[in-house]
Formats: sequence, C-alpha cells, structure tokens
Amino acid sequence: MTCDEALPLMHEYLDGSTDGTEAAELKKHLLQCPECNRVFRELEMTDALVKSSPHVAAPDDLTDRIMKSLPVRPKRESWLGWVKRHPAISVASVFLFVMLGSFLSMWSQDQELTVKGSNLDQLVIEDGTVYLPKGHRVSGNLMVRGGDVQIDGELDGNLVVVDGQYHTASTATISGKIYSINQAAEWLVYQVKEIFVPAAQ
Ligand SMILES: [Zn+2]
Repeated sequence: MTCDEALPLMHEYLDGSTDGTEAAELKKHLLQCPECNRVFRELEMTDALVKSSPHVAAPDDLTDRIMKSLPVRPKRESWLGWVKRHPAISVASVFLFVMLGSFLSMWSQDQELTVKGSNLDQLVIEDGTVYLPKGHRVSGNLMVRGGDVQIDGELDGNLVVVDGQYHTASTATISGKIYSINQAAEWLVYQVKEIFVPAAQ
C-alpha cells in the first residue's frame, strides 16, 4: 500500500466503513510508515473530539471566511503531500468546521483575565496587568488572555498574549517565542496547533 492509498482508507477506517482486509492492510502500512502513522493519530484525535462534541454547529459565514484563508491544495499534489506541508492548518480546517460554534460562544462569555502557566506565584497581577518582576522566574509557557503583560524577569518558555498588549523590559529574558493573538480565529488555530503538533520543531 502506498501513502496516497492509505489516507482515504484512514478516513474510512475512522468512519467504520473499511472491511477486514482493508483494515489489516492499513494497519500494516501504519506500522511501516511513521509519517502516515502521525497523520492517522491526528485524524483519530480529531475524530474523537468531534464525536465528543455533539452540540456544535459552526456559523456558516465565519467558517467560510476562515476556509478561504486556508492554503489551497494544488490539483497536482497528493493529499498527503498537502497535509505534510500544512500539518497544523489542514487538521485545523477539519476541526474548525465542527468546533468553531462552541468555541466562539465560550470566547464571548469568557472575557475576564485568564492566566495559564506553572509557578504563577512568581507573577504580580494588578489592574488587569500581569507583571513578572525582575529577579522572578516562570518556567514553562505563560498564557495571558484578556489582560496586558509586563515582563521584567525571566520566562523560560513561550509567551502567549491573547487580546492584550505586552511589554518587555531590558532586563527581561524570554527563552521561547512571543505570540500576540488578537482574534478569536487566530486563537483557535493556535490552540489547534498546540493540540495537534506537539513539539514539532
Ligand atoms: Zn505512508
């Protein structure tokens, strides 16, 4: 079995519409091909998420707009090639269709300041600003939503600022990347990447 034959079978397998022979062939290929194995695990996860969320319906207009901004698969290119080149975005597009509705409603109900990370005792939170003072250190990623961030100390991970501004002092050390996200759709794609592309670098 080739990779191009395997991908449609993965979908059929997850839909429960493969026969025994096809399923066995697919499993054989997945054992031999790490790339298809990875794609399969992502699809399986998407499938599980979709099946665990029966009440979601995406608003047509927004889904359309996001789908139009996704990369288009050239006709000549195989699905697998396209998935390989856009691992996060292609899985995200599957995900967006079904999850967007519920996510955006969560989004609009949840506008207060949210801080996510480890050793949060290193932070000072005042007047809607999350402050990492000089000499203080947060290990791991820091995510702040709905507030501003001031980094004077050391952040050993990524900084993710959603719907807020960030400032870094000259004393600040940030070992990871800074993501500033100000739109719900971008935020969703970021989340999807976090879920589906763990430590890809
Ligand atoms: Zn393969």
